[in-house]
Amino acid sequence: MTANNPYEIARKQVDIAGKYLDLNPGILEMLKSTKRELEVHFPVKMDDGSMKIFTGYRVVHNPARGPAKGGIRYHPDVNLDEVRALSMWMTWKTAVVNIPFGGAKGGVCCNPKEMSLREIENLTRRFTWEIAPYIGPESDIPAPDVYTNPQVMAWIMDTYSILKGYSVPGVVTGKPVELGGSLGRLEATGKGVFITAREAARQIGLSLEGARVVIHGAGNVGGIAARNFSRAGSRVIAISDSKGGIYNSVGLDVEKALDCKDRSQCFLTRELEVEEIRNEELLELECDILVPAALENQITEKNAPRLQCRIIAEGANGPTTPDADDILFDRGILVVPDILANAGGVTVSYFEWVQNLQELFWSEEEVFDRLQKILCRAFAETDQIARQKKVSMRTAAYILGIQRVAKAMELRGIYP
Ligand code: NAD
Repeated sequence: MTANNPYEIARKQVDIAGKYLDLNPGILEMLKSTKRELEVHFPVKMDDGSMKIFTGYRVVHNPARGPAKGGIRYHPDVNLDEVRALSMWMTWKTAVVNIPFGGAKGGVCCNPKEMSLREIENLTRRFTWEIAPYIGPESDIPAPDVYTNPQVMAWIMDTYSILKGYSVPGVVTGKPVELGGSLGRLEATGKGVFITAREAARQIGLSLEGARVVIHGAGNVGGIAARNFSRAGSRVIAISDSKGGIYNSVGLDVEKALDCKDRSQCFLTRELEVEEIRNEELLELECDILVPAALENQITEKNAPRLQCRIIAEGANGPTTPDADDILFDRGILVVPDILANAGGVTVSYFEWVQNLQELFWSEEEVFDRLQKILCRAFAETDQIARQKKVSMRTAAYILGIQRVAKAMELRGIYP
């Protein structure tokens, strides 16, 4: 196996959970493959008048339980295997929280940090045109992921609507509220990380008041999670972005730090009166809760033996490799797996889709209330399987998710 190839990891995780399930081997094989893989190469007009060719993907892993659902990522490292893995994780995630969706993911290999807003808009609109025959509110519904945001969703929705000849808000979720986005969607993933970490803390008798929290990757997910922990009285002692992190053993002023990053695109150590810390060091800090919220493969067999946390709440998708998982399990570190910890985003995306179809909108309170219920139920169901089968929360979540998807496939049968 190629070192830490996310698709190989995603397939391996299915095998691990599969051992606990009495599955038809054909169904298991299908669960380990994707249903549809679209790769497109398309031109974009750049600001200097030149034309650049970009590569994009949209992969559907499994739509047995409903329309496929998953974000779109803009990043220089985007590749087919990464998108395949992310689409597979979406299938399990939607099943774990028991919402009627399947799994999909998309991405464009590009560096948005080096592109103007107009170039990003041109890229988004052309990419949407390329994948338009395959997306739609009943078939495959994109959402934001790394380096995409509500504005990008607005451009996708507009382009798709122009192609259709009428407004189709349900084609994407994570839209601006003014265009039919759901209240609470922007905060949903980070809030879900907080809610599931709180449940995990309760399990091990850890009080959130005063608990030391470390956040790796303070983007949408990490930033919101940090705010929630801080409001609950926890001490966020370190936080980072792709350039590096900041540390204060007593606890950072989270609002001030995030505000500084918004204004200056980085954490200014002098203004914040904090120490600088490298991302590798930050992951190994002594703390109670570690939230990896950036990219895949950050916790590996190399650093897992050195981690000094009690709980890992995975905001990012795929931050921990299977080898690292074994080490963490043996060391008694409780890992709340990505397909549960960051499922708040897709759950509120589901609420957004429902609101778009009904053309009836809910209050923020209603959204968070329903989110909390769904995540707490999913946590309890996963925890019960983990205890019964004496497995990690990740394997338990996979067992739960795979079981639900396999049952749906079995009931639908094979056509013709
Ligand atoms: P984002 O673009 O808002 O933030 C990503 C953050 O990670 C940025 O602050 C960036 O500087 C930082 N980062 C990038 N590379 C890093 C590195 N090597 N080390 C440390 N920090 C690094 O993206 P996001 O939407 O917050 O997504 C973060 C993760 O959460 C991804 O794995 C994504 O798939 C997952 N996720 C996001 C959502 C969502 O609703 N946005 C839902 C579920 C899962």
